[in-house]
Amino acid sequence: MAQKIIGMLGGMSWKSSAEYYRLVNEGVRDRLGGLHSAQCLMWSFDFDDIAVLQREDRWNDAADLMVEAAQRLERGGADFLIICTNTMHKAYDRLRAAVDLPLLHIADPTAERIKADGHKRVGLLGTAFTMEQDFYKGRLADLHGLDVIVPDATDRATVHRIIYDELVQGKVEAASRDAYRAVIGRLVAAGAEAIILGCTEIMLLVGPEDSPVPLYDTTGLHAAAAVELALG
Ligand code: GLU
Repeated sequence: MAQKIIGMLGGMSWKSSAEYYRLVNEGVRDRLGGLHSAQCLMWSFDFDDIAVLQREDRWNDAADLMVEAAQRLERGGADFLIICTNTMHKAYDRLRAAVDLPLLHIADPTAERIKADGHKRVGLLGTAFTMEQDFYKGRLADLHGLDVIVPDATDRATVHRIIYDELVQGKVEAASRDAYRAVIGRLVAAGAEAIILGCTEIMLLVGPEDSPVPLYDTTGLHAAAAVELALG
């Protein structure tokens, strides 16, 4: 069976890209069986190059790097692209304009599943950029009609710090899991019917057992949507 070639903008971080790689291969195997696996290309950044630009608020420079990488994947023969991070969907519009390939937004399969499950008010966990700026929350609200709430400033700082100081470096600490559980609890107390793990490494730290409401893991949902698109 002809598969489309998945172009993956990865390395943000490589810990989550490794999960994406596993998930798309398992997804294709589950659908096609036997020895089948995914046809994919990955550009994997040195994440420090991206993280420095994020910290310095140089999003246009970061988008330039994303466009350059997307063009490499396009030249390599990718049929469509996925950005393997929530935060760098900041560059989504720039990429759409620069590359002549479909670009599967990570928020869309996530929101579709949440709506299908009948939830409306969702708590969002992610980097400070994702929780505080409009590029991601806006899409969930305006395109999908979800009511998005985020943790308070102290909790946002904790969630952000654990992502950059631990998870993207592959550190999974019990104390940080407890901290996330507490943040989730406060979002639920504020009315969240579901929680979006809106950073592609969070599922390395928490799972369904850490939350009284359903968790929506963007990594898994995005990878599954990519498999769907690849197999048609
Ligand atoms: N992987 C994370 C995300 O999904 C954070 C790393 C990044 O800033 O790209 O947002």
